[in-house]
Amino acid sequence: MKFNKVLENIKTYEAGKPIELVVREFGIDAKDVVKLASNENPIGTNPAVSKAIRSNADIAHLYPDDSMLELKASLSAMFNVENENVIIGAGSDQVLEFISRALLDEDSSVLMSAVTFAMYEIYAKQMGAKIIRTASYEHKYDEFMEAYTMHKPKIIYICTPNNPTGDATSKEDVLKIIEAVNKDTLVVVDGAYMEYASAKDTKYAIVPNDLLCYENVIYLGTFSKAHGLGGMRVGYGIAQEGLIQELYKMRPPFNITTLSLLVAIEACKNNAFVEESITLHQEQIKRYEAFAQENGFEYIESYTNFITYLFDENMNSTKISDDLLKRGVIIRNLASYGMNAIRITIGTEKQNDIFFRNFLEVIV
Ligand SMILES: *Cc1c(COP(=O)(O)O)cnc(C)c1O
Repeated sequence: MKFNKVLENIKTYEAGKPIELVVREFGIDAKDVVKLASNENPIGTNPAVSKAIRSNADIAHLYPDDSMLELKASLSAMFNVENENVIIGAGSDQVLEFISRALLDEDSSVLMSAVTFAMYEIYAKQMGAKIIRTASYEHKYDEFMEAYTMHKPKIIYICTPNNPTGDATSKEDVLKIIEAVNKDTLVVVDGAYMEYASAKDTKYAIVPNDLLCYENVIYLGTFSKAHGLGGMRVGYGIAQEGLIQELYKMRPPFNITTLSLLVAIEACKNNAFVEESITLHQEQIKRYEAFAQENGFEYIESYTNFITYLFDENMNSTKISDDLLKRGVIIRNLASYGMNAIRITIGTEKQNDIFFRNFLEVIV
């Protein structure tokens, strides 16, 4: 069978390894596995969300409200925008897919930083578009402008805070890039970890309303990280109405599930859970910074719910990740991003204890 030729140079997205794999391959009991690989919320499911799922156990036969008006209203209220500015996706991943399909073809290119969220590339390649990367993983204005001038990309991705590196771009620098590009280029500001960055330093805080005055900018957010709903698959895009209407043409009907819709609405009522998540995170990440310093290696200052440890030639990220995996500790090796580095989701106090103990054992 002959597949679409764009598939030839697409590498399948490699998700964080699931707990089930460690149980199967290494015979470790599921309860002893520590998964710090996919930036999930370590606190677990918001109890209000669990309750909503239980009390709505009998609605599986019903399609969700396809207008998603209640969720849109919740997001509009949260961000002080109009319902018409909002599109909901099965994760913000799906909104990225809509964007890619709405704008790209084989004659276009997209611009992103050297190391950033892998799905930007995959969705763009599905459309046959060319990938342009700057030299640095940080979003540097000069590097973006040089590449922009040379390639006139159709889309510029600004992932702030950036995954998998954890650094953030200041609001001032993001606006500087936006102001410098022509209206024919869409700027995607991916704020999947924005709750963490805003809580850490307001210089990095971006809200959709900062961007709504630009017709060629879209802000993306997700319920998967700070809200702890990764398994429910709900994300959103916020932009001017004209852009949202075009993206809607790419949307399949009922693109999130009845339960997903319900729990996302519930999560919007419950900011205490997000605050609790951030408080735990801020306490625990300090331990990861101290641990790196004590053991003599570098880390990237993090504005996210994970931290990236950078190794020199005396340490090998692949070996360390594999050895940790055999011990039931799942973290993310960044070798496939061309970095001798690992990304660790900040866990609970107990999970982090287990990580530190095992890490010290595998590096001897
Ligand atoms: C997690 C993540 C997303 C989206 O996740 P969904 O679960 O699809 O909402 C988007 N961008 C970045 C950078 C992420 O890390």
